[in-house]
Amino acid sequence: MSLTAAWNHLLVTYSTQKIQFYSAALIQTICFWGLSAIYISLPYLAPEFSARHKLQKEEKQPTKQELWECFKVAARNTAFIWLLQAAHLYRSYKRGIPSPFRFEAEFPSAAELICHICIATIIRDIMFYYAHRLLHTKTLYPIFHKKHHRFTAPVAIAAQYTTFTEHLVANAIPIILPCAIMRSHIITWMLFLAKELVSTATTHSGYDFMNGWARFHDLHHENFNVAFGTVGLMDWIHQTDGKVLQQKKREQEKSQ
Ligand SMILES: [Zn+2]
Ligand SMILES: [Zn+2]
Repeated sequence: MSLTAAWNHLLVTYSTQKIQFYSAALIQTICFWGLSAIYISLPYLAPEFSARHKLQKEEKQPTKQELWECFKVAARNTAFIWLLQAAHLYRSYKRGIPSPFRFEAEFPSAAELICHICIATIIRDIMFYYAHRLLHTKTLYPIFHKKHHRFTAPVAIAAQYTTFTEHLVANAIPIILPCAIMRSHIITWMLFLAKELVSTATTHSGYDFMNGWARFHDLHHENFNVAFGTVGLMDWIHQTDGKVLQQKKREQEKSQ
């Protein structure tokens, strides 16, 4: 069966709400939880390789007890988002509210796919940057964001070690809204969701993989007042990219 035929079979067999819910849950399980499991098991399965690629020192890494606590909070947050999404989709199904995404039999063109994913990446950076800076204000920080900063040397699942409010406002909404606003094809949103989850697990992994993707967010967990965004665009505009700190860190790593 070709990909198009399989997609069309799904469209005629299941409701759009069911397709959206189960595909999002599957993508989260594979791209966030599966990838995080690989990152977190590396120090146990390949200690030398792991130590060679970790960005921060061994003594700063979380203990097994802390990892377990982190897992419980991240799992609770995943369940919270799944429940919210299920409730929202059930309501839409009952009331006949159409999905903001396009469920068309034809796949989006390559040009549309690339264009929507690039725009969504920028919109997500803008939304995450300002939500994150708001969370760093004196009033909001202790209530909503201090929890996420417990790990100064983060691990992949620490990406979802947050309060419910932070998880909804800073993590979930900026991933759903950009493609919903553009009325993207559901396949585009699924690919965007997968990309963002791989990114969020990797940027919190504490490893120098994928061209040192984690360095930027690691810098935020270490220093608090730089690197607030996701891809660096808003940090570049607001001059919060911590370039001097990054340079110092690279020099330190070289001299070790
Ligand atoms: Zn973080
Ligand atoms: Zn922060």
